[in-house]
Amino acid sequence: MEVTVGRLDAVVPETLRFLFDAIKTERGFGSAALSLIEEPVECWCRICSAEFSLDEPVFICPYCGSTRVTVIKGRGVTLTRIEAEVEDESTQYQTGD
Ligand SMILES: [Zn+2]
Repeated sequence: MEVTVGRLDAVVPETLRFLFDAIKTERGFGSAALSLIEEPVECWCRICSAEFSLDEPVFICPYCGSTRVTVIKGRGVTLTRIEAEVEDESTQYQTGD
């Protein structure tokens, strides 16, 4: 399972990983793997239309100094990919004698 986490969010990747491990143990998905991708924060300036990325949550346009900035990427948690493997169930369907 692959999850993209926007860097703007307060969701700490370690917390997500901890929850995933807890669920997978409880539900018996022992071999499930979680891949976390941190998405950088990208913004768009409403004054000069510049697009730029942010390393810190300081919403000021580096080109014109405006604070009228819109976040266009890096927000939210997205499930980007999920892979499932079906185990061989032939033993479960044996009819016996
Ligand atoms: Zn600007």
